[in-house]
Amino acid sequence: MPPSRSRTLLHAALLAATIFSAAPFARSSAIIDAKSIDSGSILITPSNLSNGSPCLITITLPHEALSVTGNWQAHRVPFFSLTDRHTWFALAGVDVELAPGSYPLTIEAAFKDGTHTTLHQQLTIETAPYVQVPLTVPDKFVEPDSKALKQIAADKLIKDKAFATTAATPLWTGNFTPPLRLAPQSDSFGNQRLFNGKVASVHRGLDYHAKLHTPVGAINSGRVALARPLYFEGGCVVIDHGLGLMSVYMHLSKIEVTAGRRVRRGQIIALSGASGRATGPHLHLGVRWQGSYLDPAKLFQLQMPQISALRAH
Ligand SMILES: [Zn+2]
Repeated sequence: MPPSRSRTLLHAALLAATIFSAAPFARSSAIIDAKSIDSGSILITPSNLSNGSPCLITITLPHEALSVTGNWQAHRVPFFSLTDRHTWFALAGVDVELAPGSYPLTIEAAFKDGTHTTLHQQLTIETAPYVQVPLTVPDKFVEPDSKALKQIAADKLIKDKAFATTAATPLWTGNFTPPLRLAPQSDSFGNQRLFNGKVASVHRGLDYHAKLHTPVGAINSGRVALARPLYFEGGCVVIDHGLGLMSVYMHLSKIEVTAGRRVRRGQIIALSGASGRATGPHLHLGVRWQGSYLDPAKLFQLQMPQISALRAH
């Protein structure tokens, strides 16, 4: 069996620090530890995580690796490299409903000579300040009749199918950008919602106060996984950005793309509306990573690598 080296690593690595030197967020540490570089290191951005946080994980290794895989909260986290196989990236996240606490992240790197390294880091998840909000919608969305229940069940199969397939490489490149340029975003992600005082749910997206028929842009490049009306979501588009990351746009009045089509960041995919379970005209944006819903506003703040070079692999 190949030897396995294991070490708890807390320090930022030189290469990753160089790549992200212009980034506005805090790093876990600016100190370079010679021992860390020997086995490899883990850099998490942002350094402060809470339930609903997306995060960029950067691994820096002493040798070129064949593959790097992470394990986080029972998710298998696929990593990708650019031209340099010393540095590997993954875009992952903390589920909005995860309880605060300390949780392990484990990274396995396999090398050409048959050896492998295991890196460990405990991630502290803080509590995000989400609030409880009462909302009023038509009763048919709180107590759907039997016809509506059939449609909701059929919708679930359609969504499950769309969410089940994701590209094996990132389709995005560079930063994620908001879907609307002018409409203000609310701070509604993570709110506990009481619909008509009866049904409680966590708001797993971000609402934008958009007038009817406002053009909606893709938050990054990807492939359209779903483009159709659904009962709760109304006019709905799902874009697969690869490696389990998807963006979901709801309550649309007009859809401008079809399933299977490739789209670029900023491309107009739809017009906003008030269809489905909506209290009025707005755009709901969801960011989904392997079934977990993440705060889109935090994703827009992350400084992401340009990965068009990846396509040359
Ligand atoms: Zn919403």
